[in-house]
Amino acid sequence: MSAAKRKRRAARWVYPFGNGKAAGGADKKDLLGGKGANLGEMTRLGIPVPPGFTITTAACIRFFERRGRLPEGLKEQVGRALQQLERRRGQRFGDLRNPLLVSVRSGAKFSMPGMMDTVLNLGLSDSVVVGLAERSGNARFAWDSYRRFIQMYGDVVLDTGKAPFEDAIEALKRDRGVASDAELTAADLKRLCSIFRKIVLRRAGTAFPQDAHGQLWGAITAVFRSWNNARAKRYRRQYGIPESLGTAVNVQSMVFGNLGADCATGVAFTRDPATGEDVLYGEWLPDAQGEDVVAGIRTPLPISTRRASAERPSLEQSMPEAFAELQRIRKTLEAHYRDMQDVEFTVERGRLYMLQTRTGKRTGLAALHIAFDLHAKRVLGKEEVVARVEPEMLVHLLAPVFDPHQQAAAREDGRMLGRGLPAGPGAACGAIAFDAERAERLRADGRSVLLVRTETSPEDLGGMVAASGILTGRGGMTSHAAVVARGMGKPCIVGAEVLRIDEKAGVLRARSMVFREGDDLSIDGSTGEVFVGRIEPRPSEIQSALISRRRAKKPAPRSTLARFTRLMRWADSIRRLKVRTNADTPHDARVARALGAEGIGLCRTEHMFFAEDRILAVREMILAADREGRDRALRKLLPMQRRDFVGIFKAMDGRPVTIRLLDPPLHEFLPTEDAQFRALAEELGVSKRALSDLAEQLHESNPMLGHRGCRLGLSYPEIYEMQAQAIFEAAIAVRRRGVKVAPEVMIPLVGTVVEFDRLAARVRAVAEATHRKAGVRPVRYPVGTMIEVPRACLTADAIGRSADFFSFGTNDLTQMTFGFSRDDVAKFLPEYLEHQVLPADPFAQLDEEGVGRLVRLAVKEGREGSPGLKIGICGEHGGDPPSVRFFHRLGMDYVSCSPFRIPVARLAAAHCVLEERGEAGSGTS
Ligand code: PEP
Ligand code: MG
Repeated sequence: MSAAKRKRRAARWVYPFGNGKAAGGADKKDLLGGKGANLGEMTRLGIPVPPGFTITTAACIRFFERRGRLPEGLKEQVGRALQQLERRRGQRFGDLRNPLLVSVRSGAKFSMPGMMDTVLNLGLSDSVVVGLAERSGNARFAWDSYRRFIQMYGDVVLDTGKAPFEDAIEALKRDRGVASDAELTAADLKRLCSIFRKIVLRRAGTAFPQDAHGQLWGAITAVFRSWNNARAKRYRRQYGIPESLGTAVNVQSMVFGNLGADCATGVAFTRDPATGEDVLYGEWLPDAQGEDVVAGIRTPLPISTRRASAERPSLEQSMPEAFAELQRIRKTLEAHYRDMQDVEFTVERGRLYMLQTRTGKRTGLAALHIAFDLHAKRVLGKEEVVARVEPEMLVHLLAPVFDPHQQAAAREDGRMLGRGLPAGPGAACGAIAFDAERAERLRADGRSVLLVRTETSPEDLGGMVAASGILTGRGGMTSHAAVVARGMGKPCIVGAEVLRIDEKAGVLRARSMVFREGDDLSIDGSTGEVFVGRIEPRPSEIQSALISRRRAKKPAPRSTLARFTRLMRWADSIRRLKVRTNADTPHDARVARALGAEGIGLCRTEHMFFAEDRILAVREMILAADREGRDRALRKLLPMQRRDFVGIFKAMDGRPVTIRLLDPPLHEFLPTEDAQFRALAEELGVSKRALSDLAEQLHESNPMLGHRGCRLGLSYPEIYEMQAQAIFEAAIAVRRRGVKVAPEVMIPLVGTVVEFDRLAARVRAVAEATHRKAGVRPVRYPVGTMIEVPRACLTADAIGRSADFFSFGTNDLTQMTFGFSRDDVAKFLPEYLEHQVLPADPFAQLDEEGVGRLVRLAVKEGREGSPGLKIGICGEHGGDPPSVRFFHRLGMDYVSCSPFRIPVARLAAAHCVLEERGEAGSGTS
């Protein structure tokens, strides 16, 4: 026998937990998955956990390696663990009088809520259910458990789908004249079981299995397989979870929250996941099974009395002892895990059991406050605080809000449709869509979208990604919609029961009004309010506090603003990468500075040309028949450009400002409509015909690969010369006023060193002439280039010897490396992502494998050509944390991103350093 085979034989696939003992440990998440490791950990902490065992992720991987055959030795190990479980519970699997029932749940290393499968009440059969009814003294409970089991097992293991079961329940309720499941009697549920078994026979072509062991293996293999279902794959893609991890399977003895009035089930956070406040926060339902709380079928009740009312009593009021025990466990868990936890629990005949704990998902606001609270208690150090806040989460803190006056006016005008639960902070407005696919389509058409559903499920993920906000008619703060939206940082309202949503018919009714797809609504995910029509969101308080200069008082030390500012300061003290911004106006430059920009990495001068007061002069320049005409138009533009640069230099107050000379193809500046053409011809005093002929000459079949960037500069050097003159005149003028200036001139779209050299020489000549004319000491100004054409990467050593700096234009570099048009990629990219042709949108997250390889080569060879060459990046990727990590590793000097991504980039850059030191990653996964 080979050594590898012997090793495999000896592999341990099963880890039991129960009676205060558990094998493995919390550090075994790779092997036991998050759920399994934490069940073991809670057991060891003396927390009441129903006993069970975990089958490892390695077993799942082996299962796939063996093409769906069970790993060697797994059957025997599960058999032994099951016997031990029977002894611990004093029950027997499949026994008619005292049956052991188990749950079978997935549990990967990283939590993937609702993505994989679960089967509850396993072990029931036509005869066991009778024994259970007798032993529990509750026939309704027994038949209800059995019908749930058939339904789940049918759907998960036998692929029957959920719908036929749901239709059968609805039909029976109609028949019995009752509105809710709770009104069905034991006899009704018994009848339902028989109907369900027929559904299984019809749909799966096989009778519902009656042998408990057969059921168990069916469920275990189905959970293994669910690792590869479409929605789990999609989730992994969205959150960058590796495909190779596999899922563990947890087999745990059942405890029941649906045995009567002294039973309950619930989910809770050890702190408020929206604000971070140090209170037990969650929802519960009396006489119910766990899935009822999260499925949104019944709207759950609050756990704490603060959120209770006469109609909605709290757990604290209804079951004070269980509540007190839960409070104790909350403290134990937080002390142990040093972080906020998200737990599931069941109360069976007054006794509390914990079914799960994991690090709780939270808003950015909560992440900030939890980290600083734990710091104040000396639980976390400074670097851990920085590591605990995910960069992307800062988007929550900067989430937009409605203008309070507009919002108040909308309320007074009767435009408020109703309220739901405020599940994800922030304001959004948009066209409503009733399913994920339509939401994605409307988004692709450029509209902002609100996804409106009765409740969401993992299948809706694509629509949730596309939507600006999410609104559901059912469900609580821990429903799927709420959890996922918070994770994504999207405004979200759930449980808006005043809205009657009929997805099939594509209508939403509320207050005798009817809304259809495409109609506009607005939602405030912080208050739960839904409004008719559009209220445009605006920057949040923290955004405004940072941006406005009227920061009157020093903020209170525990305030969000003070903590945010401190977090940023700490991040800045850790990071190595500098963070600049892409800004084209003095206003944007000021906003960016307030958000921490250390300079402008990209000022796109063409945006200035579109301003109303100068577009005419720009068109005159483009359409000039000769050099003379062009010079005339450029003379008009010169003072305007100079004013632009003066404003920006002043706003940046001595920080570097990289100004890119004109880049886009000229025809982009021309009018598109006939009437505009006629008006322009009149204005310029030429015939419309002559004008059309000139415009025709500028037409290009492939303008993004055409006459643009430095190619324009070489054909019409006078344009770049005018821009250079404006830059240096502005710099001299601003310096005269005692303000420091640091202009950097950047040539776009360079592919050969000759292009660069020719244009850089012209810029230097203009600089010299301007300084000489002004009679002043020269302003220091490097001349560098964008690296956005693959050839520039391949010849970076030569270009590096000439250029003073490189700035990677990863938008164009991605376009040209893939050969994907930036403007048309949306037509096929969704399909590429859906079918995993690509793991992520390469225009959002840098493609390290391909584009990244060119970047790496250019950085290396550029610095070989010119040691110490300053290198940055100014494509959209500059504000994307995974891409920032890549640029950090390459040793770039700075990233440049849009103003509102700056805090994200600053924190991401700090995380890169912490990761290198092995200190990041203790976040919220
Ligand atoms: C780029 O190509 O990455 C870039 C920053 O330039 P633009 O997006 O203006 O083409
Ligand atoms: Mg570009």
